[in-house]
Amino acid sequence: MMEQDLHGKRLDDLDPGDLVKSCKYIEMGSCFSLEGIRPCVHGTIHSRVLVTAEEIRTGAATYDMVVQRRKNLFAALNGLADGLTDPCATCAHLKQVKYKDVNFEYVGGEPLPAGLNIQHYTECNQRCSYCDYAQKDRMFKVQYNMLGYLDLFRKVGKLRGNNWIDFSGGEPAIFPEFPTILRYLLDNKMGTVVVYSNALLFSQTIYDALKENRIILVTSLDTGMASSYKKLRGGSFFPKVIRNLIRYRNSGTKQLWLKYVVTELNRTEDDLWSFVLAMLALRPDRLLICPDFPYTAPEVPAETTKFVARLWYILEKLTGITPLDYVSEFGDPLWLKYHASLKQALDEVYQKKPLGDECKIEKLAFPPPAFAPSPLHRRVIAAKRRVWGSDLRKRILPVGSAGEARARQAWRRTFGRLFSE
Ligand code: SF4
Repeated sequence: MMEQDLHGKRLDDLDPGDLVKSCKYIEMGSCFSLEGIRPCVHGTIHSRVLVTAEEIRTGAATYDMVVQRRKNLFAALNGLADGLTDPCATCAHLKQVKYKDVNFEYVGGEPLPAGLNIQHYTECNQRCSYCDYAQKDRMFKVQYNMLGYLDLFRKVGKLRGNNWIDFSGGEPAIFPEFPTILRYLLDNKMGTVVVYSNALLFSQTIYDALKENRIILVTSLDTGMASSYKKLRGGSFFPKVIRNLIRYRNSGTKQLWLKYVVTELNRTEDDLWSFVLAMLALRPDRLLICPDFPYTAPEVPAETTKFVARLWYILEKLTGITPLDYVSEFGDPLWLKYHASLKQALDEVYQKKPLGDECKIEKLAFPPPAFAPSPLHRRVIAAKRRVWGSDLRKRILPVGSAGEARARQAWRRTFGRLFSE
């Protein structure tokens, strides 16, 4: 589509058929940052604050105000009014569309990655080397009531579902409002909720939601070695994190996702291979790979891109899971450059095949149980459990009694040989 010259027009002069530049994040996104509500947060890129934390805290924010602020940014981007436009002006998410297809009235309605992003607190129980908040000592408690903001839209019937909601922070498991906010998102059927927890603190709320497959849990593990984990996270937390991940795994969820953030501290073969083996044990449902965000550097280092490609290839080969690129939807030029370099690095590694052709063990990675019990076997075991768990048995053969020990032994020597559990 040719760019249309809107020179001399104001927002109110636009016709439905006019070609304009708009972004779904500006139209319907709401990212809850420390400073207030932004249309998006994409790694190093934070779009402008449309409603400040102070305006929400004092109750000055209204539905009409939010819609008007979105319109103001849109007008500035289209040269219809004055105003600051960075970083949107150079973002790949800014698309040419007909004005009739632009709508600023809603929160949500499409699963935009990082379009609803909860991080209006940054308090955490770890100090990651790659976390900008931790490194700058900007660990703050919750800054405002984000549900009050969502209620502005809910009360006028403009809160929509079908969203992709990133619940990050900070660490959700230590965030006192976490259960209340999660309940609100689920009760209002707002869409897919992705909880980013480091798993250092076991959360019953996370466990229960995982068990019912109501949330996706993403945990960055970044290595399979306790020593590297300590360097990356600022404490000897690794064994506890692994224990909690096993508990979450045992919830039976299909939504446990594990992540590798690649930094200059864990770009080693030891970290790579230990992580791959840990994945074979933990059996995540998805794998994510993310480069350390270059907050101060102009681009992602070439070494990181090369490492990501190699890790990607080996994970796919040995676990049978094709990893996801965590930053694939980031639209800033810095990230577009990374996407292109990663594609090239992946092409190269898949051409070279460092593991060789014979290394096709993905079928062994998650083997089916060696023994599949027959229906008769299952019925016998179920009957045995019923009898063993009955009050009558507990009266006749009390727990710990000699009679109970004899009965167990008799079972093992007879039927137990045929019908083991
Ligand atoms: S930075 Fe990009 S994605 Fe974010 S609001 Fe601006 S144009 Fe949209």
